[in-house]
Amino acid sequence: MYKPVIGLEVHVELNTKSKMFCNCSADYFGKKPNTHTCPVCLGLPGALPFINKQAIEGCLKIGLALNCTPAEESLFERKNYFYPDLAKGFQTSQYRWPLSVKGWIDIEDKSGEKKRIRINRAHQEEDTAKLMHQLGNSKTQETSNNENITGIDFNRSGVPLVEIVTEPDFTDSSQIRDYAKKLQQIFRYLGVSNADMERGDMRLEANVSVREVGNEKWDVRTGKLPPYRVELKNINSFRFMVAAVEYEIKRQIELLEAGRDDELRQETRGWDENKKITYVQRSKEEAHDYRYFPEPDLPEFRVQSSEFRIDDIKKGMPELPWMKAERFVKELGLKISDAKILTEETELADIFEKLVKIGREKEIEPKVLANYVVNQKIDLLNKDPNQIIDDIKSKSVGIISDEEELDKVCREVIDENGGLVQFYKRSLIPSGDEIKKGNPNMLNVLIGGVMRKTQGKANAGLVRKILEKLLNG
Ligand code: ADP
Ligand code: MG
Ligand code: ZN
Repeated sequence: MYKPVIGLEVHVELNTKSKMFCNCSADYFGKKPNTHTCPVCLGLPGALPFINKQAIEGCLKIGLALNCTPAEESLFERKNYFYPDLAKGFQTSQYRWPLSVKGWIDIEDKSGEKKRIRINRAHQEEDTAKLMHQLGNSKTQETSNNENITGIDFNRSGVPLVEIVTEPDFTDSSQIRDYAKKLQQIFRYLGVSNADMERGDMRLEANVSVREVGNEKWDVRTGKLPPYRVELKNINSFRFMVAAVEYEIKRQIELLEAGRDDELRQETRGWDENKKITYVQRSKEEAHDYRYFPEPDLPEFRVQSSEFRIDDIKKGMPELPWMKAERFVKELGLKISDAKILTEETELADIFEKLVKIGREKEIEPKVLANYVVNQKIDLLNKDPNQIIDDIKSKSVGIISDEEELDKVCREVIDENGGLVQFYKRSLIPSGDEIKKGNPNMLNVLIGGVMRKTQGKANAGLVRKILEKLLNG
């Protein structure tokens, strides 16, 4: 038996006004190439960088939200490599003294199972320039002949970037999506980034290896990891990342099972969406030696200084999604499932809270409002809350949670839909002496029937329960 060992690196661009080490605007997306540049972010000799305080605060906030410990002292180092996306010949990053270390975040899978992911570090660095490859023949101003050219846009160079590195705690691909979604939600709640994958605000890299269960040589519990890892890079959607990780796990297990361990090596792979396979981009032999050393042009700084007061930053932290959800449950008596949906995005949570406030005066229960908002979601974003409340009041779109009343409607719908019920029952699967639920599609059609009869006012969860009881019992 083999188990995947996966660690994740997430890069997120901060939405600060200016870049990390100069005064150029960091709002570069869609702007004319090379218009947001200066000697510092172009890496011209003699240009002196300075630290963007807003970025450091953003990075510290991310660390705090991930239960990390802020460093007492921190400093930047040069990560040396030679590539045209970095005019300086090095990236200003952090290596030995990151801003935040040793945190954790809990993720939850669909069944509600909790899993703790340890965070190794959250550090501050800068983004690189963007290379744009253009094939000859494309008739643009830049190419007058048939040459293939690569253009460099330095607008992105020097935009604040935070890197968050986990311990290798993931054991399957679905956890990766849950984690990435949770981070995205945190960035948006904190207001530090739009965290849009498509625009490249947020980028994922996964490190994947597999280990044989019981193999003491590679035992994660003792911190002994497989002696190789495959780094999956340049994958710009959650979905492709999950697919790539799944493919990689399968590929690696097959090699191990075939006794071809020696083919498992440290390398970087990309994802080919057409062929649905990963492919080698760079092998270990070509790995960089970054020769990190402290950046002499920037000062070391103390986090607990007059400039960056961690207590003030803590005070300025917004309520995070899980805290908000807990408050909705405790103070407003919502179900945790509803509270979670309502807190997925701050916008929705804000609308809901506004409605609760107005609803209080008009004696509409938070629970009724929660049900309404969960069902209508996006439709509400542009509506006036007062109007919504009036609508609810006038149409008395109250939610029917009366079991007896719903039981009656459910029986009616069952009687009127003999065919569907047959289908539902026929697909009951006996497994041991336990009878599993029937065909969920049929059940959903029946729930829809009850909703129609009640003008959408029925409590859907309750309807499901009653129908299941009537059909299975
Ligand atoms: P690098 O900068 O070389 O990518 P980092 O230490 O920043 O190195 O990131 C390494 C990532 O790979 C971390 O998320 C870590 O948990 C993960 N990792 C380390 N060893 C393994 C392994 N054997 N299998 C899977 N993931 C690993
Ligand atoms: Mg890496
Ligand atoms: Zn600049």
